[in-house]
Amino acid sequence: MTAGNLQPGQVRENATRRALADRLGFDPEEMRRKYEEERDKRVRPEAERQYARLEGRLESFAADPHLAEPAWRPALTDEVEVVVVGGGMTGLVTAARMRQAGVESIRIIDSAGDFGGSWYWNDYPGIMCDIESYIYMPLIEEVGTFPTERFASGPEIQRHHRAIGEKFELYKDACFHTQVTDLRWDESAARWTVRTDRGDAMLARFVVLAIGGLNRGKLPQVPGIENFGGHVFHSSRWDYAYTGGDYRGGLTGLQDKRVGLVGTGATAVQAVPHLGKWAKELYVFQRTPSSVEVRDNRPTDEDWARSLKPGWQAERMDNFNRLISGVPVERDLVDDGWTKKLRTLLHGEGARRFKDLGLGSAELAEMIDFDVMARLRERIGSIVDDPKTAEKLMPYYRYLCKRPCFHDDYLPTFNRPNVHLVDTEGRGVETFTEAGIVVGDKEYVLDCIIFATGFDTNVHAARYTGIGGFEVHGRRGISLSDKWANGARSLHGQHVHGFPNLLILSPIQSAYAFNWQGIIKGQAEQAAYIIKEARARGLVSFEVTQAAEDEWVAAILAKSGVQLEFLQACTPGYYNGDGKVPDTAVVDGAYAGGNIDYFNLLADWRDEGGMRGLDLRRGD
Ligand code: NDP
Repeated sequence: MTAGNLQPGQVRENATRRALADRLGFDPEEMRRKYEEERDKRVRPEAERQYARLEGRLESFAADPHLAEPAWRPALTDEVEVVVVGGGMTGLVTAARMRQAGVESIRIIDSAGDFGGSWYWNDYPGIMCDIESYIYMPLIEEVGTFPTERFASGPEIQRHHRAIGEKFELYKDACFHTQVTDLRWDESAARWTVRTDRGDAMLARFVVLAIGGLNRGKLPQVPGIENFGGHVFHSSRWDYAYTGGDYRGGLTGLQDKRVGLVGTGATAVQAVPHLGKWAKELYVFQRTPSSVEVRDNRPTDEDWARSLKPGWQAERMDNFNRLISGVPVERDLVDDGWTKKLRTLLHGEGARRFKDLGLGSAELAEMIDFDVMARLRERIGSIVDDPKTAEKLMPYYRYLCKRPCFHDDYLPTFNRPNVHLVDTEGRGVETFTEAGIVVGDKEYVLDCIIFATGFDTNVHAARYTGIGGFEVHGRRGISLSDKWANGARSLHGQHVHGFPNLLILSPIQSAYAFNWQGIIKGQAEQAAYIIKEARARGLVSFEVTQAAEDEWVAAILAKSGVQLEFLQACTPGYYNGDGKVPDTAVVDGAYAGGNIDYFNLLADWRDEGGMRGLDLRRGD
């Protein structure tokens, strides 16, 4: 249509739009259209069902590469005071806090061969934390070792887990290579029976569930996946026997190999620089590009570390939690890529450019987001030499639709002649053949395929027990799966009516998970307090009342922190049910006030001293 066909009002409107676009450097209308178009390319009717878990016929993908055969041990039928299911960060911090509260008999059970959770399983090349180590690595002051870098490597984080285990004597009763298969409450004995795949049937007075969310890998259900004749593995079970090297690189086994990497999420972003350096040819199969920004890693300044005053870590974590909750801070202590972006998006720093446009808050937030993403794309264009490759690496969605990534070597890797970006136009890989992967009408012949296709995460209550790999039977045999089939019901995300002496630590009905550590700290303190009080008051059991559970569910529903419209408009990914936001997203979501409000609420609850909402059964 030419200007000649337009009505005067439309001409004016178009002129205003052009002026606005010139002023902003992007046309908001055009951006909205582009985002929608890119999203629509990726929406699939199967949503989350497009993935298969690493079980059944795919079980070999989940085998532990660190240890061929777990050592034999006798089945346990003894009794401990607390069983903690999960030896990752959540379980360890909770157990450490319980130790500090005087609990002696603690048994941590984990399917891995050591403490570490995700950091045990994931040790792919380039692995490091993308949240600042000083707030990510728990109990630094208590353990007395300081991270060597601003963003520590995976093995350093794993060593820190072990140090926590040693410091708080948590190895003593731990059961590794042990998968819990069933938890059952025995009302008359007021004990949990914990059954495992090692034949155990141990008793526990209290059970803490700390099952984490990044240990159950998943694969795309794509035809022919078993037909591939070459070598294949999931990124969370890295096969160094095949690739050579270790997390620092040196993947000499790939020097004569054509390697296909499926996925371009946070894992791939860290692994690609090493794969690109060592593989003869690297094909990166992309469905949706990640946002990748400056990482700026550096060794810890030892003088600075020495200058920190006791209590510094809690203060720093609190500062970060405030920033992500939109609560003003005097100074951004972390001051990294994450917090800079959050300051721009949530704390008004990005609003300055738009201040005289008279925009409402939602539109202003959208403009700031467009601006952030436009700059991010510009940066990609300035690093990647081939304009076509650069364009394909550019993300078109709102910033927090996907986990943001920070890396200084990912984008430049696409300038290497042996590295090829295979953009699937949002469709994903379509077929596997004996020789490789087919995208469109082209077959890519490969020696090895690595799936960096992510994990089943524990954000849905209905899938919670599935991720744990066990059922929980409470009073009168009621199962947690049934109880949570249509969404979570809890008090504070931790207590469930019908399940006495059980504490759940997860993001469900609790806090936002940008920095897992931020959630854990508050929840672990709460769990340790409850166990301490139960012991001190001589309780046989504690259980949330129906009324208190209803009240918390109503609070979650009434003041939801889940931004449904935002999620629905996002490009598919695990944040939004792969494009189909589940009906239970709100009820399973975080407490609306944000992490700071949630933690304050727990602290106030403790200060009241009455364990309000819990039915406390005392011994005779
Ligand atoms: P993700 O779920 O983030 O990424 C999976 C990738 O696989 C996506 O790029 C996805 O594409 C792609 N994919 C899935 N199916 C197909 C298909 N059929 N064809 C092509 N591509 C496909 O998993 P990650 O392991 O990368 O990360 C998981 C989480 O782990 C992160 O979000 C983060 O929370 C955490 N993590 C944290 C780190 C840290 O430093 N703290 C480091 C690494 C991970 P699409 O985007 O289109 O769905």
